[in-house]
Amino acid sequence: MPVETEAAVASVLMTGEQYEESLRKMKFKVYLQGERVENPVDHPIIRPSMNSVKMTYDLAQDPQHQDLMTAKSHLTGKTVNRFCHLHQSTDDLIKKVKMQRLLGQKTAACFQRCVGMDAINAVDSTTFEMDQKLGTDYHARFEKFLLKMQELDWTVDGAMTDPKGDRGLSPSKQSDPDMYVHVVERRPDGIVVRGAKAHQTGAINSHWILVMPTISMTAEDADYAVAFVAPADAEGIFYIYGRQSCDTRKLEGGTIDVGNKQFGGHEALMVFDNLFIPWENVLMCGEYEFSGTLVERFAGYHRQSYGGCKVGVGDVLIGAAALAADYNGAAKASHVKDKLIEMTHLNETLYACGIGCSAEGCKTASGTYLVNMLLANVCKQNVTRFPYEIARLAEDIAGGLMVTMPSEQDLCNPETSDVIKKYFQGVASVPTETRMRILRLIENLTLGTAAVGYRTESMHGAGSPQAQRIMISRQSNLQQKKELAKNIAGITDKK
Ligand code: SF4
Ligand code: FE
Repeated sequence: MPVETEAAVASVLMTGEQYEESLRKMKFKVYLQGERVENPVDHPIIRPSMNSVKMTYDLAQDPQHQDLMTAKSHLTGKTVNRFCHLHQSTDDLIKKVKMQRLLGQKTAACFQRCVGMDAINAVDSTTFEMDQKLGTDYHARFEKFLLKMQELDWTVDGAMTDPKGDRGLSPSKQSDPDMYVHVVERRPDGIVVRGAKAHQTGAINSHWILVMPTISMTAEDADYAVAFVAPADAEGIFYIYGRQSCDTRKLEGGTIDVGNKQFGGHEALMVFDNLFIPWENVLMCGEYEFSGTLVERFAGYHRQSYGGCKVGVGDVLIGAAALAADYNGAAKASHVKDKLIEMTHLNETLYACGIGCSAEGCKTASGTYLVNMLLANVCKQNVTRFPYEIARLAEDIAGGLMVTMPSEQDLCNPETSDVIKKYFQGVASVPTETRMRILRLIENLTLGTAAVGYRTESMHGAGSPQAQRIMISRQSNLQQKKELAKNIAGITDKK
């Protein structure tokens, strides 16, 4: 982040406007649809995603939401944005989930800032335990970074997922050595890294990035066991912006067909082209035996996160489906009522999992609280399924018009406007445009730009379904369950 921005931020809590201004001063190297983007903040495709992150700053200024949106720093005692906070109790873990539900409700999109929060919490306890066992000094470096992050209210992008190439081969066995981020040079003043991170949520809305390995490693992969922080606009980093379904509707300048004009999310390919990292910003370099711990903890926190953010977006989708029924006169039909009940049941089940894994969290050696890993993985496993069913039911209630309706331009064209208004009218009291708006919102959430966050990210974000099943199997304590059964059945293991 430029020095003048640091000086400009007097308070520990940035306003949304200050956040936006801080991004303007950054020198991102971003490619989008075949071109270099000079001004990401005002680019019509990128801007809605910036607005979502901005909401994490705006809500923290609102007295009504300060209990959820802010916390007391364990380092300084100052009030900081909860996205910069290390969880000091199960109450903090619960408030995190509630904050994410609130932001999902306010944006109906991915607000991106959680990956950094989940990364700092995972890195904190892992570097503490690594130093205890190996005598390294990573934790002190991390705390120095955290202090700056809190004081300057940074958005940090937690970067984990490598491109991975041939999934059947370990990092060091890939035909292209850059398929996983790795150290290519160790120098007296730092390291040089090369590789990429894929699907990087909110990368171009972040001040700094926190890079972590993506899988457990063995000794032969030691060069790939690397974690570090770097300014998101550092020389040696560039981004290729991810395409989303219906993204070019944002270039049309309308307000209806985009479904959600104000908010969105984004992902990008983040490329490290011989990026230099000074030692003070290196948080793991070769300690392969701690790679798995870091990955599991970050994944655990992010699987908890989905029990909040997806639920908040689900609230909007349920509301939109109910309005669609109101607008076409079907609201009183018993099957519509039942579908809305089912959607609510599924959505609240996800929330119960998010709250449950938080309430059952425990303290790690560094003092930071970790979620209950079994319940966090159960939470995310449900997220790989329930939003799909909620989306299916929303599409069922919405009807086919959601995907066959003429464009906003046709609604505005004097030659076709009256015909559209006449034939797409539902109940007489509701203007056709209102009905079109709610159908476009459902389309946005289920098939459009927000479907990245609500559907496919529900499947693959924070790890694909099989990753959770492996963790559930590891945590299930089947042996104890067998003992319980034997005890009840009166079975003794006599030889
Ligand atoms: Fe946060 Fe959810 Fe987006 Fe992940 S998917 S960054 S948890 S809003
Ligand atoms: Fe995610």
